[in-house]
Amino acid sequence: MNYSFWEKKYIQAPAEVIILGSGIVGISTAISILEARPGTTVKIIERGSWPYGASTKNAGFSCFGSVSELLDDVSHMGEDACLEIVSMRWQGLQKLKNRVGVNSLEYSSCGGTELFRPRDKELQDKCLSSLEYCNKLIKDATGLETTYSSLHNEDLKGFSDRLIYNRHEGTLNPVSMMNCLISKAADKGAHIIRGVNVTRIDSENRLLECDEDICIPYDLLVVCTNGFAAQLLPHLDVRPARNQVLMTAPIPGNRLKSGYHLDKGYVYFRNYEGRILLGGGRNLFPEEESTDKFGNTTGIREFLTNMLEIIHPGASSLIEHWWSGILGIGESKYPIIQWIDDYILAGVRMGGMGVAIGSHLGDKLANETIEKLT
Ligand SMILES: Cc1cc2nc3c(=O)[nH]c(=O)nc-3n(C[C@H](O)[C@H](O)[C@H](O)COP(=O)(O)OP(=O)(O)OC[C@H]3O[C@@H](n4cnc5c(N)ncnc54)[C@H](O)[C@@H]3O)c2cc1C
Repeated sequence: MNYSFWEKKYIQAPAEVIILGSGIVGISTAISILEARPGTTVKIIERGSWPYGASTKNAGFSCFGSVSELLDDVSHMGEDACLEIVSMRWQGLQKLKNRVGVNSLEYSSCGGTELFRPRDKELQDKCLSSLEYCNKLIKDATGLETTYSSLHNEDLKGFSDRLIYNRHEGTLNPVSMMNCLISKAADKGAHIIRGVNVTRIDSENRLLECDEDICIPYDLLVVCTNGFAAQLLPHLDVRPARNQVLMTAPIPGNRLKSGYHLDKGYVYFRNYEGRILLGGGRNLFPEEESTDKFGNTTGIREFLTNMLEIIHPGASSLIEHWWSGILGIGESKYPIIQWIDDYILAGVRMGGMGVAIGSHLGDKLANETIEKLT
């Protein structure tokens, strides 16, 4: 890069709020700040020519928790914390749909289905016998009378004959989502500066040190770098986790009707215009997938290719595309919203649910920021 004087002056110009990272969380935070406090100068710094982490690389499930996931969460963190996460997902999805509009999201209200493999019999029995408990549990968070129901599995032969269906879930196109959010942020006056890699936060002098001898001063900094957060804030409990995904060509006779997940959400697949998108399996290779490097590996490719054959025999010869994205995870599933010092706020660790909670988190981060500004 060979910045001109004019470019450098623009990039380094002060703003009331600097947001680092232009994924769903960073962009939603900017929109929420500008909705609540029009005229605030907001600058978003992004190293990619595009959001380059998870927000445009995810599977596009608009989901708020399967039964196996809820039971797992309750056993690890108790009912209250589990409910709070469901509530954040639910509120985030309502906000996203209202803000972007279902047409612009390419939203399909196709529902979500939890499947079980024959070897998951114990988990299946536990989930099926807990439907009433889960329906009651999340009613407070969503207001929905009945979320989960048990249905007969007629289409997917490689899975057990009972499944759990949630008609309130759906799917969307993540790039359409981000395009719309980015233009909303720009319309409201946010300056989005791409191609600038921040290498260090100099908190003493309140400066972002960047490649190419760029130094950006900040009064208030909101860090929304999720899976990459440890590169700049190593003491936070957030570590990267790669998720690999494949997409087939359109498949004649593709009978997938909803978004599907199994294994507590670690494996997921859906129909997109007759194609099958399938991803996940990082729990099978925990060490290999604890990385912030993009890429596809032999082990996950084999696992997903075999899974695809179970979902739709013969489909593995139609795989067209592989990619990966980077999540931010930690000991707790709860996202981090934390002041690092008086001038740096972190909003990271979205796990596999940033599409769902991102807009809600944006509101929370904006509220914190505005309180500081006034
Ligand atoms: C394959 C996959 C499938 C998923 N499926 C779903 C799903 O179906 N439903 C769901 O709710 N969630 C899903 N998720 C999770 C969801 O996509 C993420 O939680 C969410 O996108 C995180 O958004 P973010 O804005 O926090 O982070 P990101 O989108 O990762 O954005 C962070 C940004 O910070 C930038 N950045 C980082 N470091 C620097 C630096 N030093 N200098 C400048 N810029 C920097 C990056 O380039 C990036 O653009 C999935 C994730 C993956 C990977």
